Amino acid sequence: MSVLRIVIAGGGPAGMTLAHRLHRHGLDVTVYERDCGVATRDPGYRLHINSTGTTALHAALEPALWELFLATSGMPDEGMPLYDEHLTLRPARDTKATEGVGAPVSDIPEHLVVSRSTLRRILHLGLEQVVRFGVKVVGYRSNPDSTVTVLLDDGQTVEADVLIAADGINSAVRAQRLPHARVIDLGARHIVAKIPLTDQTRAMIPAQLLTTFSLAYDSDHTGLTFGPLERSNPDSPLIKEQDDEFQAEARENFALTIFNSVNEKMMPDAELFTASPQRLRDYVMARLTSWHPALVDTVQLWDVTTVQALTLRSCVPVGAWEPSNVTMMGDAIHAMSSALGIGANTALRDAHVLGEELLAVTDGYRAVVEGVGAYEERMRDYGFRGSATVRGGGRAGDRSPPATRVVGPLRSTAGSGFGPDSRPTALSRGGWMLSSPLSVNGKVVPGSVRVGSRRGQGSMAVAPCRSSSHVSARWCRISSAARLAPTRLRVSIPDGRP
Ligand SMILES: Cc1cc2nc3c(=O)[nH]c(=O)nc-3n(C[C@H](O)[C@H](O)[C@H](O)COP(=O)(O)OP(=O)(O)OC[C@H]3O[C@@H](n4cnc5c(N)ncnc54)[C@H](O)[C@@H]3O)c2cc1C
Repeated sequence: MSVLRIVIAGGGPAGMTLAHRLHRHGLDVTVYERDCGVATRDPGYRLHINSTGTTALHAALEPALWELFLATSGMPDEGMPLYDEHLTLRPARDTKATEGVGAPVSDIPEHLVVSRSTLRRILHLGLEQVVRFGVKVVGYRSNPDSTVTVLLDDGQTVEADVLIAADGINSAVRAQRLPHARVIDLGARHIVAKIPLTDQTRAMIPAQLLTTFSLAYDSDHTGLTFGPLERSNPDSPLIKEQDDEFQAEARENFALTIFNSVNEKMMPDAELFTASPQRLRDYVMARLTSWHPALVDTVQLWDVTTVQALTLRSCVPVGAWEPSNVTMMGDAIHAMSSALGIGANTALRDAHVLGEELLAVTDGYRAVVEGVGAYEERMRDYGFRGSATVRGGGRAGDRSPPATRVVGPLRSTAGSGFGPDSRPTALSRGGWMLSSPLSVNGKVVPGSVRVGSRRGQGSMAVAPCRSSSHVSARWCRISSAARLAPTRLRVSIPDGRP
């Protein structure tokens, strides 16, 4: 078959990882990125990357870029200690939810941390001919000949065989492809900043905070998190091969700190999002007056040029849709609370899975729409698990596993989801989460609903009937070949709970 023309909207972690994978295999791929260059905007702070992410990056990157990624990453201690506001250790918490599902290269730890800016620079290396900076994708037209015309903000258009939206939570492509998909405010606010880690600042920070990601919070669920990034190999010859800006950045160590609070306890949004960085830092200091002085002192160390306020938002899971040659990945389809620390990892997983499917298409094993449908079916299963969940009743900074509560109406595209459209539906404590209608090979099964294990076993149920307290479901385990092996299952639903 002729070479597939693939357009990716957005050069974030998802878009660029997929671009590397496809480019390495000789596909015709172009990325349109709205920013004017790789360093025109600070793309953020620090990312925790687990084996889900490292598996995807390892498969996508040339070996030298992979080594550069490792050299510039931090390898923190295991664990995620939890403190109260007096810096007294609380009982350890289950950190399973932060673990990945990949099979990374054997000698690297499960948890790495990376500077988002350095990762961005690395992901753009070697793809200079692939990325068009300063161009926004604003929409598309599907053509009768199965191609797609991509609409750009400069009035130009470009023809493609596949359009992939990797343009983040406000995705323009998703707005057209799935206009019913919604993004909601999770009711929590963050004030985020970096602390440069130098000999001087390290001496002023409690030693236990310097080794791994830590959380402190009080009985009001106001929290302060601290995530250090110490580069594992700043003297790597691979870093010395890069330009001066890259080298300077790759020598900088810093800690990400987040002050978090539910929004009703935070200053009003109108003030929060217009306050100067200095004012935000003063506000945080004032909120922490009764806290352990060593924790308050860390806020004194904030680099004010990096302080900003953020809203925690999430996509609401939507039911299965018919696949086409326009698809979405990463935050464009399943943005989730940043407090879970797995949004980028899930975006990288999408890049991996979609990359596999598109390579199978070019190898002649599948038609384009079939490949996209297979990706979307897998993605809906794992991707929506973290979306639109309220953690611990909406507390910010709580990294407990994705909650059992699904917010928002669960509407089946076949018109047969659980629960009235206007009311959120809750599922039982047993570790099961209601998501979308079941689809097999990209086709929605009428009258079905999918019940997935929160632990990711990928199991599902077709649920044709419902009483007030339980669902009788035909239990199906779906293999990659979509074989159904029905048995009976009863899923309790605590009806009436919000
Ligand atoms: C404070 C914070 C901390 C986080 N920590 C973690 C963590 O530790 N681990 C983790 O896994 N996740 C974390 N996340 C979540 C993570 O940042 C996202 O899930 C991840 O960045 C999603 O990647 P993406 O490529 O899908 O989208 P994005 O990173 O949003 O990238 C989208 C790209 O598309 C570009 N773009 C946007 N619109 C257009 C357009 N119309 N046309 C062309 N280009 C466009 C943007 O400029 C951007 O480059 C955190 C999030 C926040 C806010």
